[in-house]
Amino acid sequence: MRKIIETLKKNNARHFCSMCMITGLNVLWAVTYDIDEARGTNYHERLKDDLRYCMAVMDPKGDRSLPPNRQADPDLYLRVVDKNKDGIIVNGAKMHTSDAPITHYIFTCPSGVLQEADKDYAVSFAIPIDTKGLKFITRPAPGPLEPKEMESPASSHIGFVECLSVFDHVFIPWERVFMCGEWEFTEHLIRYFSPYVRICKGACTSARTDILAGTAALIAHYNGVGKAGHIRSKITDMMISSEIGWGCALGAVANSVMHPSGIPIPDVSISNAGLYHSRLRFIEFLGTLQEIAGGIVTTMPGETEYKNEETRKYIEKYFKGRRDIPTEDRLRLLYFIQDLTASRFGGYLMASAICAGGTPETNRVEVARSYDLQEKINNVKALCNIK
Ligand SMILES: Cc1cc2nc3c(=O)[nH]c(=O)nc-3n(C[C@H](O)[C@H](O)[C@H](O)COP(=O)(O)OP(=O)(O)OC[C@H]3O[C@@H](n4cnc5c(N)ncnc54)[C@H](O)[C@@H]3O)c2cc1C
Repeated sequence: MRKIIETLKKNNARHFCSMCMITGLNVLWAVTYDIDEARGTNYHERLKDDLRYCMAVMDPKGDRSLPPNRQADPDLYLRVVDKNKDGIIVNGAKMHTSDAPITHYIFTCPSGVLQEADKDYAVSFAIPIDTKGLKFITRPAPGPLEPKEMESPASSHIGFVECLSVFDHVFIPWERVFMCGEWEFTEHLIRYFSPYVRICKGACTSARTDILAGTAALIAHYNGVGKAGHIRSKITDMMISSEIGWGCALGAVANSVMHPSGIPIPDVSISNAGLYHSRLRFIEFLGTLQEIAGGIVTTMPGETEYKNEETRKYIEKYFKGRRDIPTEDRLRLLYFIQDLTASRFGGYLMASAICAGGTPETNRVEVARSYDLQEKINNVKALCNIK
């Protein structure tokens, strides 16, 4: 597992990957094992056949204060509408599915803990993405709509795709079904999901913070303020946050508990605490990077002006930073910062840090639920000699 998160961190540091949901397979690996042990089903064996996929967890959810069966429209959570000897028919949708149109299989599971009245919503399966009735409604990737050579250097090459995945009365053969009505096991699903997705997002956020730290140091140098105390201090904060995020991901892995199906379940409290810290600081650091780079991140001319002979000489002259740094290098770095912090892609990075893999509030709930506060209270009583 350590190898998985190391790869995630490396991929993010170089290419901003969006693979945190790949851990869904580990989660279903353990949940299907639990169901089979308790019920004598054979979901676990079926699961082993479907290994290249995207993970569709999040339902549209409608009115968040109501459970699935009390929504005005029963399809606001993906559900089983019919069954026969060959399989099941599902109707509904999943939201925000990363990479769905570019993978082979779409893999679904419930997005929350369900009660008995919601047992039709306790469904998990994997089907090929060209299955009849399955539709992906997607938007352009958050990059420039026309190719650029200098501007948008990251988002010109990286295309994140999320979509609304609609299941319009889709037939799923039994051999592709991994959960059907076992609502009691949705609690296991969420319990296993939480630390998995959090260690992956923790590694990813740490790597993205490393990118901000490197960028901040370089632009500070280009601007001649690399040695300024307040800037070094802010970059040190980025380093600390990155190490906390990465350290918690590693610590949660080291503190794993082995599930009888053979996969480790990372530590819930440490993984959630690390991500909570690093994701909030990450979005703060997007602003810090703008502060260090200066207002030209948003006000600078585009590359069309730089490539225009008439205007280029002025840009060359007035966008110069340190004497030894070519203006073009400084501009290229500033375009990168613009891409990271002041563009559709920048907005995407912020949303990805805040919402992807569950919101910060979810992290707080998970820490409060799994941290052993009573033990700490008892320790304090012992320190005070309170019987
Ligand atoms: C870039 C990106 C990629 C993603 N990729 C995937 C993916 O591949 N697969 C997938 O399944 N999902 C994916 N997601 C979805 C992600 O998991 C959700 O966005 C996240 O879990 C939050 O859910 P939501 O967006 O429905 O927000 P909501 O649940 O609507 O939350 C909005 C606010 O309402 C609060 N809230 C919600 N319900 C309640 C309640 N009952 N009581 C009190 N407060 C409440 C929340 O705490 C939050 O503050 C992705 C999201 C992003 C941004």
